Amino acid sequence: VLTLVRADAAFLDGRLHRDVTLGIENGHVVTVPPDAPKTDVIDLKGKLLLPGFVNGHSHAFQRAIRGRTEFLAPGHERDDFWTWRDAMYAAANALDPDSLYAVSKQAFLEMALAGVTTVGEFHYLHHQVDGAAYADEGLLAHQVVRAARDVGLRICLLRVGYQRAGFQVDPNPKQRRFIDADVDVYLRRSFALRDALEGDELVSFGLAPHSVRAVPRRWLEVIAQETKGTSIPIHMHVAEQPGEIRACMTEYGARPVELIDATGLLNENFTAVHAVHLDRWEVGRLGTMRCTICACPSTERNLGDGIVEADSLIHAGARISLGSDSQAHIDLLAEAQMLEGHLRLLRLRRNVLDPATGGASAQAVRLLDALSHAGSRSLGLAPATLAPGSPADFVAIDLAHPSMLGARDLLTSAVFAASSGAVKDVFVAGKPIVREGRHEQTAHIASAFSSAVAELRW
Ligand SMILES: [Zn+2]
Repeated sequence: VLTLVRADAAFLDGRLHRDVTLGIENGHVVTVPPDAPKTDVIDLKGKLLLPGFVNGHSHAFQRAIRGRTEFLAPGHERDDFWTWRDAMYAAANALDPDSLYAVSKQAFLEMALAGVTTVGEFHYLHHQVDGAAYADEGLLAHQVVRAARDVGLRICLLRVGYQRAGFQVDPNPKQRRFIDADVDVYLRRSFALRDALEGDELVSFGLAPHSVRAVPRRWLEVIAQETKGTSIPIHMHVAEQPGEIRACMTEYGARPVELIDATGLLNENFTAVHAVHLDRWEVGRLGTMRCTICACPSTERNLGDGIVEADSLIHAGARISLGSDSQAHIDLLAEAQMLEGHLRLLRLRRNVLDPATGGASAQAVRLLDALSHAGSRSLGLAPATLAPGSPADFVAIDLAHPSMLGARDLLTSAVFAASSGAVKDVFVAGKPIVREGRHEQTAHIASAFSSAVAELRW
């Protein structure tokens, strides 16, 4: 059945079009035939359509600790990533399958309301608190996938591999829920999960060796071999903290990107999450190998990680995608604004990501790529662009929203000025999941989330 969507404007095929009629059939964008029947029409007048946002890096359960770690722990004179991690581990160990579902669903609901149509879930809660596998080894992954699907999102479940606390670091009992004994167990469980997830077109799968800290070199070599010639997406935290670089140098005499490169993992299927602390060679190598960098600016700011040098990485040939990561905030438009904003603070100038060759919208177009297309590419999905043949995943920005009033260049205002409140309608595979700023399960999801969090003991 052909559905027509009418809007004031849309970002189609890489540029802005006015007075648009979009055709949708079987969940995809189609060319509207001139004699199209006018029966099934969705009216999005007064709105700008953009490709749906792809949240390339999420740990949904971390929504449970939002706002709860914003103070110095008693007896501490300073705070950093590693003390935040203690709180996060406490939450990770307090969740059961039901509360994990409730917390994840709230995170995904907030994503939907902010215009996210696809999430890449970097999932590392696998086992019971004592480390024993559940009878269904994929139970917790299924809970998270179900939460996303019940909200209406497309999801790529990136099953995380985790073996150890670190090089010459004693096992940490708080990490037992994450750990698979060796890479063979990891791959067996991962591919079993992939098979079990088959059947829903909106669910896909990838592999995520956690970091060079959490898995040894052999894991990366085996994963590179097992995925050679496939298009399975591989995601990995890379160079988030200086401590990771130091440990990697001590263990291997190499920096993280050098080590990963030597294992054969770097290619267009590889996404380096964060990639904050890189040297010049590493920046160049990630670009040459056509990797994606998933920047998570609000989390990198919240945790004091540092700034992703997106300008240098793009110049080297890498693609930049965006993620909400720790869920300190869930607002992908704000992530795009922060990506450029942090670079301004770093470079002490303005419009750092403007390629300066494409006119007034060029910088906004570049950030739209980070919001959508680069993310879908990094998750191995069909391009998140509004073009014939693409999935009908899109958002409608209200041109009458206070944050959009007075816009001259619609794309630039949508990316740099719009608040997430301007996102009024969100469609996934042609189906509305948010209409006029409302998701129909909002109250129900919020109350289940509040009860689940109130009962957490940590
Ligand atoms: Zn992360």
